[in-house]
Amino acid sequence: MTAPTLPVPATEPNPGSRAARMALPRSVDVLRDIATEYGVCIRPVAMRRTDLDTGQTEVIDLPCGATREDKCPPCAKRNRRLRQAQIREGWHRSDEPLPGPEPATDEQKALVVLRAHYEFERDDAARRSLWDQVAELDDAIREVEEAIATEGLRGRVAPPHVVDDQDEESGKRRKRSTRRRQDAPDLPRRKVDPRTVGKVYTAPDGSTHQPSMWLTLTLDSHGPVLGDGTPVHPDRYDYRRAAWDAVHFPRLLDRFWQNLRRCEGWNVQYAGCVEPQRRLAPHAHFAIRGTIPRAVLRQVAAATYHQVWWPSVDVQRYTRERPPVWDEQAAAWVDPDTRAPLATWAEALDAIDQDPDAEPVHVVHFGAQVDARGVMPGTDDAERTIRYITKYITKQTGACHSIASDRQRRHLDRLWQQLQVTPCTDRCANWLLYGVQPKKAHGKLKPGRCKGKVHQRETLGIGGRRILISRDWSGKTLADHKYDARAWVRSLLGVTTDLADAGHADESGDRRHAWELARPDDPDVPPMAHRLLRAISERARWRSELLAAKDRAARGTPDVSATGGETTANGEE
Ligand SMILES: [Zn+2]
Ligand SMILES: [Zn+2]
Repeated sequence: MTAPTLPVPATEPNPGSRAARMALPRSVDVLRDIATEYGVCIRPVAMRRTDLDTGQTEVIDLPCGATREDKCPPCAKRNRRLRQAQIREGWHRSDEPLPGPEPATDEQKALVVLRAHYEFERDDAARRSLWDQVAELDDAIREVEEAIATEGLRGRVAPPHVVDDQDEESGKRRKRSTRRRQDAPDLPRRKVDPRTVGKVYTAPDGSTHQPSMWLTLTLDSHGPVLGDGTPVHPDRYDYRRAAWDAVHFPRLLDRFWQNLRRCEGWNVQYAGCVEPQRRLAPHAHFAIRGTIPRAVLRQVAAATYHQVWWPSVDVQRYTRERPPVWDEQAAAWVDPDTRAPLATWAEALDAIDQDPDAEPVHVVHFGAQVDARGVMPGTDDAERTIRYITKYITKQTGACHSIASDRQRRHLDRLWQQLQVTPCTDRCANWLLYGVQPKKAHGKLKPGRCKGKVHQRETLGIGGRRILISRDWSGKTLADHKYDARAWVRSLLGVTTDLADAGHADESGDRRHAWELARPDDPDVPPMAHRLLRAISERARWRSELLAAKDRAARGTPDVSATGGETTANGEE
């Protein structure tokens, strides 16, 4: 193209110049890219494992387990594959997922008996006002409860003795207010059957179908919006309601499932996720096991609401610049000028109870748009829907939609301004701006600068879990699904032992190990780059072995290749 006599074009930097050097890819970046390509965690956590019998220690890298791509793409992708497997397994199942718990072991029973003895002694000591002994017994109780949990019993044996809902000032338990309870929705109520599996339909030709559903729930309107998600009238858009709706959306979803189960009379199961719409309000997509008439879903969504019985936020009495101050002596937040203490959380709630005209400070509703459709198991449609549900789960909420124009940026800023002054919980430091001391107030609170997630710009007020999976969905936890995926790979490779621990256990019975976090500057922890290089090499070899094994399986038994193809996605570790 270019004649050899022509001089080097000016756009190409001179060899050996700084510009030429800068144009070369940096080897650290390439290392990270390759690690990502091979699915190797780029921020592994070094753990030191000590064999308690021999005292030998070994540094083992564990994947960081990040769920977001901006932290670690391989871990986030692996997590998404596990979620997809979880949704796939629970969605169309035709048997009940939980066969019921196994009977307790003798050790578990012995621990519960020990816990009973402690309870008896604690009660005795408390009666005789031997508070030192009570404190000691509380420690012992905590220990035995930890042991009970380690032994694999679910839940607590008994509630802890330090009651959370106690009124600190008076020491007496708060009576549950009748005024502040949720009104019952206007829906039929049935007894909820433990059944979780949907109805099976039989066609005239005798074939059976067990369809499932896909549902999208959105929030009420906060004002008309344009195609880019920004309001038509920014000054009339209800940012305050948008902020409160986002913060309380999870509670609204909980109430929806509760109402739906009561209305339908069976234990409806779901798996889904919460993500922002273009207008930056959260909405939720769900896979539902079984079918429910669309009219019923609409009726339940329309009748469901969540009332927030919190103190009023109509008047902001203080600002971040002129906040209330902590009075060490009074152990209370006080007005900076008058030194009068602010109302405590309990006092503020009592005031609501005593006011006959009190109304909830906020009520969350769903919007009119309720999308629901049937999905047949095993179809492309079902797979596509699973990908759609998990599309954004590796992204930060704020990164789901691009904010490109000035209009969009200003829209986000206005929402964020509201989120900053919206109380996130009953313990939020923002309550101080409204002249109320939050529950369990203490001197370290920063008025109007609560660290809660929902106040941060990138969360858009969606602070809680974004993946919502009901208890009896697949009957498995994410860890179980991970184990399934590994077991599949091992069976294909003919590997019988797990590198991490099972191998040692097989050789010499029960080896006892202690694990601790290794510090990056410990002398036996190799530099991160060395660890990544080793992990990539291991993964590359392992991958080709897996491919070869799949090949063999495909040629030998066509059956295995069929399931193999289906599980490849989650089978890669
Ligand atoms: Zn990672
Ligand atoms: Zn907060």
